[in-house]
Amino acid sequence: MSTLVKNLETVRSRITQAAKRAGRDPEEVTLVAISKTHPAEMIREAVEAGQELFGESRVQEALIKIPSLPGRLRWHFIGHLQSNKVRKVIPSFELIHGVDSTALARDIDRIAAEMGLHPRVLLEVNVSGEGSKHGFSPEELEASLDELLVLPRVQIEGFMTMAPLAPEAEASRPYFAALRTLRDRLAEKTGIPLDTLSMGMSGDYEVAVEEGATLVRVGSAIFGGR
Ligand SMILES: *Cc1c(COP(=O)(O)O)cnc(C)c1O
Repeated sequence: MSTLVKNLETVRSRITQAAKRAGRDPEEVTLVAISKTHPAEMIREAVEAGQELFGESRVQEALIKIPSLPGRLRWHFIGHLQSNKVRKVIPSFELIHGVDSTALARDIDRIAAEMGLHPRVLLEVNVSGEGSKHGFSPEELEASLDELLVLPRVQIEGFMTMAPLAPEAEASRPYFAALRTLRDRLAEKTGIPLDTLSMGMSGDYEVAVEEGATLVRVGSAIFGGR
């Protein structure tokens, strides 16, 4: 078995174990294999091992790789999306993880109307308040959510976050727990389920699953270093 296939199996079984520890159904958690910077051949190897959902963060790179791979694969956009790339991104990706401002959400909505599409998105929340991170602060999110939820084209399915870089996975737990608590409160307040929580990367995906992630974005633990 190749290293990549072994890695994939390890990540899958750790997700399952983490879900069970938290009393969750492992089926609630979906692995997004983050293939950015890695060539199509490596993605093909993961596909042969049963992985069909991938995440990419660079538009140009993704739009070269996607057409060279089987059409049944599903793609999520996980990077910082610039308004001038929206037209290229929304037809190729089934979910955009990081909508990080009201202006971007409005641009996506307008362009989707022109294109006849209904893009699914997650709003990125900067739970830690780190200045280097994109996303809505929890306060901004709460203040803007009503006007975002009425955008006719954009379908807001939940939230995404990144924990600050830390050597210990446990350091991410309070941020993941805070996002879940915020989601629970806003879902109650708006009456919209906001089911999807995208949180956890190679270093902290097990903690994220324990704290309620429904999507984990794992790159280097599967594909190796970039
Ligand atoms: C690159 C990236 C990941 C995956 O990171 P790894 O540490 O390699 O698992 C997850 N989320 C986002 C937003 C990324 O840009």
